[in-house]
Amino acid sequence: MKPAKSPVISLFFSTIIVLAVISIGVIWYNSNAQTSEIKFETPPSAEGQPTLGAQNAAVTVVEFGDFKCPACKSWGEGVFPALITDYIVTGQVKFVYINTNFHGEESRLASLAAEAVLKQSLESYWLFHKALYDEQPPHQNHDDVWITEEKILDIGSRVEGVDLELLQYSLENKTERAEVEKDDRLVEEYNINLTPTIMVNGITVEDPFDYERIKELIEKELEGSKEDE
Ligand code: CA
Repeated sequence: MKPAKSPVISLFFSTIIVLAVISIGVIWYNSNAQTSEIKFETPPSAEGQPTLGAQNAAVTVVEFGDFKCPACKSWGEGVFPALITDYIVTGQVKFVYINTNFHGEESRLASLAAEAVLKQSLESYWLFHKALYDEQPPHQNHDDVWITEEKILDIGSRVEGVDLELLQYSLENKTERAEVEKDDRLVEEYNINLTPTIMVNGITVEDPFDYERIKELIEKELEGSKEDE
């Protein structure tokens, strides 16, 4: 009778296979990193958009994000804080957020609300932006409804500086519809089909979670801006 394979050995071999697959993936990714980045000669305009950081920063990082997108929540929690610490508070990078409404009415409602809060104050906008992502249920199914007017007003009531009545009025009358539609046009113009999409001075980063690559692009752009001086 054939002896049964030891579970330890099986585990060992399956680990090797998994590691091999991962390293193939990494190599494949690195060799393609350069070619899959698209550079737009004219980066998306920051006019009327929420910005974070020095207005005259040499580098602009744009996020095309959707409040209903789980990957955007992950990006906001896993990559954005490092970007803030390393480059935004130092005055080297200005960050711009553009609404990308890929998940129907809920995305649009969140965008309308965010634009309405932005009209009230930029400081409140960033608090509201974070609070909205914080409220996104973990491991949600895309189809589970969670962005409702009631939820937005509840979040708004907890964010400093938000005029709740004005926010409610804005939602009911879709006062910021033109801003949301402006973002829709940018999504189309820049051919955005994934969220989050991250652009560094108009260069689309292939993997938004590859912070090392984002840093490399920022450093290169910072160097370039010094040469231009
Ligand atoms: Ca906008």
